Order: sequence, then structure tokens, then C-alpha cells
Amino acid sequence: MSIFVRFAPSPTGYLHVGNVRTALVNWLFAHKSGGRFLLRLDDTDTERSRPEYAAAIEEDLRWLGLVWDDFRKQSDRFGAYEAAKGKLTASGRLYACYETQEELDIRRKMQASRGLPPIYDRASLKLTDAEKAKYAAEGRKAHYRFLLEDKPIEWHDLVRSEVKFKGSHVSDPVLVRADGVPLYTLASVVDDGDIGITHVIRGEDHVSNTAVQVQIFEALGFKPPAFGHLALLKTKEGELSKRVGGNDIRSLREAGFEPMAINSLLAKIGTSDPVEPFVDLDALLVSFNISRFGRAQAHYDMTELMRLNEKLLAHMPYPAAAPRLTALGLRADETFWKAVHGNLKTLAEAKDWWDVLHGEINTPDIVDQEYINAASYLLPPEPWDENSWGVWTRAITLKTGRKGKELFMPLRQALTGLDHGPEMKALLPLIGHNKALQRLKDCFL
Ligand code: GLU
Repeated sequence: MSIFVRFAPSPTGYLHVGNVRTALVNWLFAHKSGGRFLLRLDDTDTERSRPEYAAAIEEDLRWLGLVWDDFRKQSDRFGAYEAAKGKLTASGRLYACYETQEELDIRRKMQASRGLPPIYDRASLKLTDAEKAKYAAEGRKAHYRFLLEDKPIEWHDLVRSEVKFKGSHVSDPVLVRADGVPLYTLASVVDDGDIGITHVIRGEDHVSNTAVQVQIFEALGFKPPAFGHLALLKTKEGELSKRVGGNDIRSLREAGFEPMAINSLLAKIGTSDPVEPFVDLDALLVSFNISRFGRAQAHYDMTELMRLNEKLLAHMPYPAAAPRLTALGLRADETFWKAVHGNLKTLAEAKDWWDVLHGEINTPDIVDQEYINAASYLLPPEPWDENSWGVWTRAITLKTGRKGKELFMPLRQALTGLDHGPEMKALLPLIGHNKALQRLKDCFL
């Protein structure tokens, strides 16, 4: 059996780290076994779905490298859902209900006051044809519920192992709204069944949907796929949701995070594997195994993402960085990249170091003008390379007796305007003799 999985976001907002984790795990699951990965947009809710969100989802997935082999949209498939509705009605598994939201709310409150679970009481199932006709004459439109069979619902979950529900402990789900729109619970099963999805991997907030969907698959004549429910992500602020800002992929991209920093983190949190940087998705595939994911909530921590980002940049070879440095407007060569890449939080910060080397710097208020003056006379002649800093500082020690921080910090400040940064032995040749001399002189003139 060839593996076929899907990622099914609703285009009602931007992708955030929680749903990208689901996409990534599906992508890795498919690629690990030579299977296929489908992107399906769950856009039956025409009021909340927006084309601009759909476009953004596609763009963000491409940016992360999570490219799909097949693409579907639920809004193209209303005919198939209508046919499924007909089939379920004919077999007696779908029934018309006339309760208003207020009536259902009151019933639930009464159940709660008697200590009963909020399970739909199937009152509409007992309506006579005459009663239904009366409701219709009043202008009430029916919504439709699926009649669950009172039998155990069980599956072996890829993440949670054995899961069991009793059919009688779950409400008959509404599958078609009063305005005729099929709900996700039905549409998703029709799509997964029709296209032959073999594994449904999604967040654990869908466990109770799975319980009813297993029976819907069967009622429509499909063999249910295998299921895996990933534990949800948790941040320091609490559970992750679309409402918490800053965790959407757009914001992370704008903040300068590398796609592989995001992928590396999301593929490993909540697993028994260490969190470390992976240079590409192929490297991630090697250690991927869905059985490593645990049931406990996974901690998503932005500082861990930053750490991975810095490590990826510190190991990024020049050919990978070159086109992006050009895009930043820098005529940077390999020597520049090698000098600065260990000091970057984001790749865009390379421009800050470029400006330190080639632009104007703020001349620091160095009290020790005499020292800088003496050092300026000891600058070795060009050509300079990475040994020049050592030649210069040894001469300075001989002349002034200074060593360590007392020796180098005033020089770093004078030459870069900063008290931190890449190694001076790498920066000095990039600054060059003329500019170095000028910057030293600026400190005491
Ligand atoms: N559209 C659903 C969601 O975003 C899909 C759930 C599923 O994977 O079945 O939660």
C-alpha cells in the first residue's frame, strides 16, 4: 500500500507553528516511505475562508520546503458532499433535526444540572412526519445529524496507541448545517475516502472527531484510514492558538528566522530525539520516526528557535549564503562571510557588519588616547591577512606592556565603534590599512 497523507488547513488565518508542525510531520511521514503528500484547503466555510489566506498558506509552505504532490479544495467538491448526504439519508444514518441553538443550550444546561453529560438526546429522531411538516411550515430549516451506532469505537493511534470510545457517550454529530452547507466532519471523510488517504495525522484536538468519523467512513463504505494525533504545542504563555501573535510563520520569516530552524525545532519537540539544527529536510528525514512522538504536550520556545537559527548560520557555507547577501545589496565575498557568520542572529544582520566595515562608525569616547596613538604607529604594512592582527598586537605588547582585554578592547572600540563582534583578526584585513589608520586617528585628533 502506497502511503498517502494530507495537510488540511482552513484558509481562515495565517499558518502558525502549531499547524506547520502537523504539515511537517505529514510531509516527513510521506517522504520517509516514498508516499505522497496532499495539500487540501478546507474552505467550505465561505464566510470565514479568504483567498488571501489560501495564497499565504501556499507561500508559507513553499518557503518551508513543504511542497505538496497533489492539491484539492473542498469548495470544488460540494457535489460529492451532497451525494454523500443522499447516501447516508437513504441508509437511515442521517436524520433531520429542528432544534434551535437556544433550545439545545437550554437542554444542555438541564443535563448539566442533573449531572448528565451534554449528549444530544435524539429528540428529533422521534418526530413524526406531521411534526416535521409543522416545523417546515413555520419556516424552520432542518440541520442534519449522523446517527452513531451504539458500539465501541477503537483504533490504534500512531501516537497515542489504543484509543477507545463508546458510541453511546458521544453526541450524534451535525453533518449538514440548516443553510445546507456540509460541515468539516462530513466533508473531510468524503475527501479522505474518495482520494484514498491512508493515514490521517493531525492535532489531538481532533480525537473526538476521529471517533465519529470512523463510523462515517464505514457508513459511506470506506475502510477508515490509520490515525495519528499529535499532542498540542504549549508555550510559556499557555496553549498555542491562532490568537497568540508572533507565532505565525509570516512573523517568524519577517523576524529573520531560517526555514530550517523552524523545521528542525518543530520536527523534534515533543519527541524523544534531541533538538538540533538540520540543514535540510532530507537530513531531517533520516532520523524521522512518528513513533518517537509522545503524548505529553510539546514545549515550543522561541529562545530555542533563536539558538537553532544562530547555529544554522554559523554552519552555513558561503555558496548557500552568497545569493542572499547579494539580495541584501552586499558585494560580499567568502572572506567576509567567514568573518561574520558566527556572530549572526539572523542573516540580515550581515548588513550591520558590512556597514561597520565599509560605512561610517560612531567614534567612541576613548579616554586612552595616548594608547591608541601609540598603537597607530605600530600598524604593520599591507598586504594584510589573518596573521596581521597578531603581528600588530605583539608589537603593541612589546611597546606598551599591555595584554588581554586591556590591549584589545580599546582597539576593537576604535576600529569598529563597538565592544563586541567577530574576531578582530578576521575583521582587520577587511577594514584595511587606510581605514584602520583613519579610525584610530579619529579617536585622538
Ligand atoms: N481543517 C481542519 C483543521 O484545520 C483539518 C483537520 C484534519 O486534518 O482533518 O483543523
